[in-house]
Amino acid sequence: MSTSDRTAEIRTRLEEYQASIVDRRERLAKHVHHREEPLPQDFAEQAVEMENSETMIALEDELSEQERQVGLALARLEEGTYGICTQCHGDIAAARLEALPATSLCFDCADRLS
Ligand SMILES: [Zn+2]
Repeated sequence: MSTSDRTAEIRTRLEEYQASIVDRRERLAKHVHHREEPLPQDFAEQAVEMENSETMIALEDELSEQERQVGLALARLEEGTYGICTQCHGDIAAARLEALPATSLCFDCADRLS
């Protein structure tokens, strides 16, 4: 397979991944902002409501972060640095890119930084 074919294939994968994140975010946003009913009076219920919205916010943050990572991965693909670890500049294993297409770190660096 030529390099440009490979690049096109990776770009397609990243774009599909990006679309799935946008989709999940939109569904989540609907879920979060759709509930305009007054707050429950009962304290226990209120606590549960709060916990739910905290979970939603955490999920929203997580999805925003994933979206940012995919954007950066697409930029690296354009630059020709996709698949190269941003920390140690070594090659990221193909199997790792397969599982985490937007990752910017090799397994060792990700392990070290976590
Ligand atoms: Zn590394």
